[in-house]
Amino acid sequence: MVIKNVNLETVCGITSTLPENQHPEVAFSGKSNVGKSSLINGLMNRKAYARVSQQPGKTQTINYYNVNDEIYIVDLPGYGFANVSQAVKAKWGKMIDLRKSRQLRMVFLLVDIRHEPSANDKHMYSWIIENGFYPAIIATKLDKIKRSQVQKQLKLIREGLNVAEGTPIVPYSAVTKQGRDE
Ligand code: GDP
Repeated sequence: MVIKNVNLETVCGITSTLPENQHPEVAFSGKSNVGKSSLINGLMNRKAYARVSQQPGKTQTINYYNVNDEIYIVDLPGYGFANVSQAVKAKWGKMIDLRKSRQLRMVFLLVDIRHEPSANDKHMYSWIIENGFYPAIIATKLDKIKRSQVQKQLKLIREGLNVAEGTPIVPYSAVTKQGRDE
């Protein structure tokens, strides 16, 4: 896909109503700091369109990027490191609205390739499956581990999330852009 234009069209807070878009939507989820903004910028070939921050839990909005008037990239709020708090519960509440979207085609789950999936990662994976979306995992920060460690870490993620047979797990690096085409 040649990206001609990108427009941050809608920014939704936790309490606002989600838009009824006319084009397919593809959403990205993952814990704060997993590299979601970096991935979205990488996919859109933009340097700093989605916010890249070192501050976990800063993004509390659902951002809809209109790409070429053809597709929406949906940036979901990063979830925290801690166990389910009030704020996290509110976000999961919002996810209930998201599943009503007729345009949502796919939800990608981002996990850090260096770590075993957390309880929230598992929760998110279940959400994707239970709502009938086709799951795909992106294992971020590929450049941070040795090549010899990649298969071992992918196995850890596959087993940690207990993914269904055939579920794609794509290693990605925002630094080298390895995995972008996949
Ligand atoms: P978000 O909170 O999930 O949106 O994460 P960000 O995209 O803001 O990234 C969090 C931090 O991880 C930033 O310091 C990024 O520069 C860094 N980061 C993100 N992706 C990668 C990657 O693939 N490789 C490396 N080495 N650092 C990354």
